[in-house]
This record gives sequence, structure tokens and C-alpha cells, in this order.
Amino acid sequence: MQFVDLHTHSTASDGTSSPTALIEAAAAANLAGIALTDHDTGNGLPEAAAAAARLGIRFIPGVEISADYPAPGTLHILGHFIDPDSPIFDDMSRTLLEARNQRNPRIVARLNELGCPITMDQVNAIASRGVAPGAPYVVGRPHIAQALVNANCVASIKQAFDVYLGTTGSAFFPKERLTPRQAIDFIHKAGGLATVAHPIQLRTDNFAHTATVINHLAEAGLDGIECYHSDHNEQHTQLYLELARRYNLIPTGGSDFHGHNKADVRLGRGRDNVKVPVEVLDRLEARWKEKRAAAPNA
Ligand code: AMP
Ligand code: ZN
Ligand code: FE
Ligand code: FE
Repeated sequence: MQFVDLHTHSTASDGTSSPTALIEAAAAANLAGIALTDHDTGNGLPEAAAAAARLGIRFIPGVEISADYPAPGTLHILGHFIDPDSPIFDDMSRTLLEARNQRNPRIVARLNELGCPITMDQVNAIASRGVAPGAPYVVGRPHIAQALVNANCVASIKQAFDVYLGTTGSAFFPKERLTPRQAIDFIHKAGGLATVAHPIQLRTDNFAHTATVINHLAEAGLDGIECYHSDHNEQHTQLYLELARRYNLIPTGGSDFHGHNKADVRLGRGRDNVKVPVEVLDRLEARWKEKRAAAPNA
């Protein structure tokens, strides 16, 4: 059987593999297809697409966007088959990066108050690793976490999130986010399909609550739900597959590979709990083509 990975990050956001290295790793792992879904940016997509063409592996241009949702849960929307050249995508990306630039210095200032002497310059240096000189890059909490590790304030990235940077951490500040409907609309306008990433991270109280949230998202235009993910066990996956059937959503899946920033998560395998059959990609692509045929200029 052939497998794919539809959720990955590169050095263009908070992964530690370059887009080329990521595609090479996917080919080495015998994956039939891979999506690059960096946070808020399409900057890694041209390089990844070129590497995929060279290595003969199916490539899906993607993105991941955070949307408004009550803490401690998080709501991330993935876009697949987006057009990286769409001006709307460019606009969206700029808005989202601005929100990061507002938030990140606040986190660093709070960390300084808490006795961790790191600087934004150090964080920027970590975030821009592997990015061409002068090219834009996304700065995220994993980069701040690495700066804390480098300064010996914490022993690991995990500890940095547990103590300081997670939604319940002492230096956490939310960034300004789109509403779920805005995130879905943006992805549609950029030509893509919108799916809800890792629904386990919604931290809902029970299955009925999850169903209510997913139903609202479906009514806002959601196309799919990520059933297979590194943070899901077999039981979670079955529950999300049930919701996909109930709300006519395409089931998707991926590892959420971040390289060394999530050291226990492997490309195409997750924590040895992720196996996404190529048919999942076939269905997603078929839905995308169907929608485009129905509304070619949308
Ligand atoms: P940001 O987009 O800058 O708010 O950072 C969010 C990213 O931080 C997520 O995409 C994950 O890659 C990472 N992250 C969030 N929570 C954790 C955690 N508990 N441990 C490790 N990484 C995390
Ligand atoms: Zn990330
Ligand atoms: Fe995510
Ligand atoms: Fe992700």
C-alpha cells in the first residue's frame, strides 16, 4: 500500500528541514505524496514543488492558519491545493505575519521579567536559519522555545511550552487571529480546500461537544477533517472518521512533522501512529476538482 503525509512544516515556518530536504525525506520514505503546510506563509512552496517535480512525488501546496477559539484549546485550519501566486494569499500572509510581530516581543518581554534573558535578535536568528538571506521568515513559539533552551532556562522545547509558552504557560500571549469563517473563506479565495487540523487540540469536553464544534465549522464551509495525526490514537481517529461521514467532510491526515522542533514526530509516520493511505489524497483532490469545476472563477 502507498502512503502520503498531508501536514508538514519546513524552515519557512517552524520546521527545521528546508523545503528541499523535506521532499527528499518524503521520497526516501517512499511516500506517494506530501503537502507542505507551513504556518501563515507560502514561502517554502516553490522550492518544495521544484524538488517534488525532480523526484517524481505528488506535491500539494498548503498552509496552516490559527483561528479564534477559547483557550486552552486551539483551532488550526489547513488549506490544501492553494494557489501560492494568488494575491489574496499574499495579503492574508502579510496580515498574519503582522499579528506575530505584535505578539512575539510581548512574550520575550514577559520572559525577561520572569528572569529568562533572551532577546528578539536571538529568536530571529533561530527563525531565519535555513532561509535565503533577505527572504521573509515566520517567527513562532518553537523558535522562542529554542532560544530558552540555548540560554539554559529550560532543558527542552517541551519544558519551554509546559512552563512558559503553552496556552496555560506564564509567558503566553495569544496573537490576533482570524475567525474560523474568515480563515476558511481566505483559503477558498486562494483556491484551496479548508480542513480542521488535529481536532484533538480543540480540547473539547466530550464527543457531543466535538460534534457541535465540527458542525459549526462545516456550516462555515469547512471541506475536511484531519482524522489521522500524531496526537491521535486509534480511538480518536475512529471518532473523527465518524464525524467526517456525519457532516460530509473529507477525512485527511498527516504527521505535523517539524523536524527537531518536534523530535519524536517522524515524517509520514508521526509517533508510529500515522499511516495515511494515498486514497485519502485521491479523495481530497477529487473534491477540489469537483469544486473548481462547479465554480471555476470563485
Ligand atoms: P505559534 O504559531 O507561534 O503560536 O506556535 C505554535 C506552534 O508551536 C505549533 O504549531 C507547534 O508547532 C508548537 N507547539 C505548540 N504547543 C507545543 C507543545 N506543547 N510542545 C511543542 N511544540 C508546541
Ligand atoms: Zn508549528
Ligand atoms: Fe497545528
Ligand atoms: Fe502543523
